[in-house]
Amino acid sequence: MNIVHYLHCPLCGSHRLSHYLTSTDHLVSHNNFEILRCNDCNFLFTQDVPSPQAIGAYYESLHYSPHHAMSGLIGSIYVMARRVMLRRKAQMVHLYATHTGTLLDIGAGCGHFLSQMQKRGWMVAGCEQSETARQMAQSLFGLSLAGDVWSAQYDTGAFDVITLWHAMEHIHDLHGLWSRLRQWLAADGTLVVAVPNCSSADARHYGCNWAAWDVPRHLWHFSPDAFSALAAQHGFRVVAIHRLPLDVYYISLMSEQYRNEKFGLLSAIWHSLLFNIRSTFHIQETSSLIYILRRW
Ligand SMILES: [Zn+2]
Repeated sequence: MNIVHYLHCPLCGSHRLSHYLTSTDHLVSHNNFEILRCNDCNFLFTQDVPSPQAIGAYYESLHYSPHHAMSGLIGSIYVMARRVMLRRKAQMVHLYATHTGTLLDIGAGCGHFLSQMQKRGWMVAGCEQSETARQMAQSLFGLSLAGDVWSAQYDTGAFDVITLWHAMEHIHDLHGLWSRLRQWLAADGTLVVAVPNCSSADARHYGCNWAAWDVPRHLWHFSPDAFSALAAQHGFRVVAIHRLPLDVYYISLMSEQYRNEKFGLLSAIWHSLLFNIRSTFHIQETSSLIYILRRW
């Protein structure tokens, strides 16, 4: 089977599912995908997603290519934002980790974050599904990354910190992933997870054109409530939530492009400013959130 069809909510198991919206894969296939909502726990997820064996074809886009240096304004914004965000991510880890030790990054890409942490004294490891990205991590930073989480072999409690920067929404076996996080994280360890926020102000504004639906590559769409419920199922509690304030500019630019807005750039900048001001006072409406978690 190349398609995964859900009859029950992947989070709470309820069969009371309803249509939430239909979004288009603007990057690769241009196919439509339905997003379902669980009537009992409000979890949102993409229905009829390609199976783990079949989804690789949906990543064959320049957007997801590690070799691709984006050009133009969006490319410049992306590179600048990445630099700022790398610093912010490192600061976030130092703020919550009990000590400098071992760190695992799942969905490590080309290894920019791991390299940053290595320079700060951390013993680092990483998993990355894309072979091209793994090769780049090796050539750019001398990092030897494992493949996906299922092939990686780590000792129980091996890591003081585990990070997933926009990776969890791409992984099919959500509960299997959380089991591994619990197994690999030290008893006093810190888990850091960044995911798009489907209850954000920009998600509401752009509706089915919100770029962070990113169907079918984004399998799960987390609100703060759904995320906390999932974490609790696996013995984790959310101890803090932080904003990723720059994501909204990139997401808004992409969303305006999907809407074919005539003044998309100006509109994206204007709306991003408004979304950011709003999220300063209502963090649960931020475009992307960083969750800091500890074991119960
Ligand atoms: Zn549910």
